[in-house]
Amino acid sequence: MRLVLLGPPGAGKGTQAVVISKRLSIPHISTGDMFREAIKAGTALGRQAEKFLQSGSLVPDDVTTGLVQERLSRPDCQQGFLLDGFPRTLGQAEALDAWLAGRDARLDAVLDIAVGREELLQRLTGRRVCRRCGAAYHLQYNPPAKAGRCNSCGGELIQRDDDTATTVARRLDVYNRQTAPLVAYYQGRGLVREIDGSQDIGAVTRSIGRALGGDWR
Ligand SMILES: [Zn+2]
Repeated sequence: MRLVLLGPPGAGKGTQAVVISKRLSIPHISTGDMFREAIKAGTALGRQAEKFLQSGSLVPDDVTTGLVQERLSRPDCQQGFLLDGFPRTLGQAEALDAWLAGRDARLDAVLDIAVGREELLQRLTGRRVCRRCGAAYHLQYNPPAKAGRCNSCGGELIQRDDDTATTVARRLDVYNRQTAPLVAYYQGRGLVREIDGSQDIGAVTRSIGRALGGDWR
């Protein structure tokens, strides 16, 4: 099965990606991992991507698309794949479709894990990490035994800059702005399966199974 996974930060995409990949025996292809891999391997595209990342600018569509196509050409993608973090733009989506069409292939579904803005804000701003050992907590879902202190080392729990209300709101806005045209594009092709991501992890997994015509208990 050839799948694209969409979902805002905090929607639990990473967790579900691991499960989907195992269930369907297809590789989980995350753009972030791919960049790191290509840069480490020192491929031509990897060197190009590194230049953009080091200068702090966005990697252009053709570089990203090139990296993804390189990855999708490998034998382990013959039976399908789960794309995570790609496509991000309409241009990337069109390039992916054209590339697949050239190989007599097409996407089977686009899974869109949806969670309400208030819930996402609560999930993301509740994160705390231990200053000393890096252990992760959540004020609501995984609170420390003693407020403000790490269970394992007693270190101080802090909120990362990335998780403050202002930054989180901005990250969600950027995501929505970037993804809305993509969702519309895939809706036009009848590929979007909206998944209610506000449920617990197991229920989200079962919803994904149903959306793909399976029975994932
Ligand atoms: Zn600690």
